[in-house]
Amino acid sequence: MEFNHENIMSEVPAEKGLAEKGSEKHKFTRKAFRAAVLGAASAGLMLLCGCQLLPFADQRLPGNGRTSERVRAMDVTPPATPTPIPTPTPTPFPLQPYLDQAGAMALQYDYDGAMSYLEGLPEYLETQELQDAVRGYEALKASCVEYPLEQITHIFFHTLIYDTSKAFDGDEDEAGYNQVMTTVDEFNQIIQSMYERGYVMVSPHDMAYVDANGTMQRGHILLPPGKIPFVLSQDDVSYYHYMDGDGFASRLVLDENGQVKCEYIEDDGSVSVGNYDMVPLIDEFVRRHPDFSYRGRKGILAMTGYNGVLGYRTDITYKTREELDQLQVDYLDAHPDFNFDQEVAEATRVADAMKAEGWEFASHTWGHLNATDRSAETLKEDNERWEANVAPILGRTDMIIFAFGADIGNWEPYAETNPKYAYFKSRGYHYFCNVDSNQYWVQLTDGYFRQGRRNLDGYRLYYNPEACSDLFDATAVFDRSRPVPVPEM
Ligand SMILES: [Zn+2]
Repeated sequence: MEFNHENIMSEVPAEKGLAEKGSEKHKFTRKAFRAAVLGAASAGLMLLCGCQLLPFADQRLPGNGRTSERVRAMDVTPPATPTPIPTPTPTPFPLQPYLDQAGAMALQYDYDGAMSYLEGLPEYLETQELQDAVRGYEALKASCVEYPLEQITHIFFHTLIYDTSKAFDGDEDEAGYNQVMTTVDEFNQIIQSMYERGYVMVSPHDMAYVDANGTMQRGHILLPPGKIPFVLSQDDVSYYHYMDGDGFASRLVLDENGQVKCEYIEDDGSVSVGNYDMVPLIDEFVRRHPDFSYRGRKGILAMTGYNGVLGYRTDITYKTREELDQLQVDYLDAHPDFNFDQEVAEATRVADAMKAEGWEFASHTWGHLNATDRSAETLKEDNERWEANVAPILGRTDMIIFAFGADIGNWEPYAETNPKYAYFKSRGYHYFCNVDSNQYWVQLTDGYFRQGRRNLDGYRLYYNPEACSDLFDATAVFDRSRPVPVPEM
């Protein structure tokens, strides 16, 4: 497949045929809520059991620095039995799970969530430690500053190169990979550097929201001084057929712990499972550094549909066997046991697990179309295919990340009379992203939110290292296994 470079934007090629869609509210608070319920439930269970296992550990909360004291026990209801039983021993109320839960929320800057969680506990009014913790979070919250939305940068990547010797093997795809892809090693250094500089992942859904009247409103991102919000996205996480054998992961899967991992097909055909692409790398990074994520946010995956999603061959064409290209035919020939329904079910399981971990999905058009060049009618047909083939797996979305960065308008606000905008708006889209070489570019109107994205790929690292200096040292990050010079666009 040929690489097609339009504008200054680096994008993976994939122009193809033409799908349906709607709007999806993010649900990142659900995880915290579930954890809270679990925490409360297990604590409750201990109480019921008259469990006295939990001596009070020394508890230190951020900005609080207070140690715990022993707390009065709660009474245990004696069982209904005539047998005399000993007077219940005072049972210490197990504070630690509650404080841990609140601490986890506060670590990701959700001080309101941490406070309301503790204040909602039945024991709150009689437990000094819980009240002290809330006071600590109040102080932390008061120290935060609201970050200016217009100065929030958005960076993006394509599928990461895991084995550089295969991506840079001199075949016809090498130049394109060298230009628009990023290696796992580069990515890890970029993320580490950004974390050390205080960057924190947020979502466009934190930057703006749709109110009850359907009007876009400014969001308010509150962070401790020195922290810098940014948006992360990744395009084309489809593991397209043309990338087979070129050193990329083959699909996303759930491991035995329910964590999202990548599969990688080794030379001998055996399958390895590990962190070979952005999603599991970021999941792992946030497990080690929870403060890299604002209230559980991760990144946004911009998804096409024509080769399926996440490495699963879920497009209806794989079932109907109509409109297939040669690579798709070859794939089906090589997989006589292909089971369409199973592909869809597995992809849906992975997508659900990702959403529970804070990931979001956007449309990248079904067929990787250039929205600048294509007509409103063609974009409508394409979006109907996205809604029919992709949305049932990833969920409905209110965000479009334009393929090739090719926007449906220039820098001026979209006109209501713009037929492409009118159509996308009618289908529930409110967030639009293009590609822009500026450090940040944000446009918020009553009708929509628009943001420019910066490509951090081989081309950028090689030709514009200074353009990354707010984020990392591109010269140090640049992967020495890349052939140089990186081919010009
Ligand atoms: Zn793309």
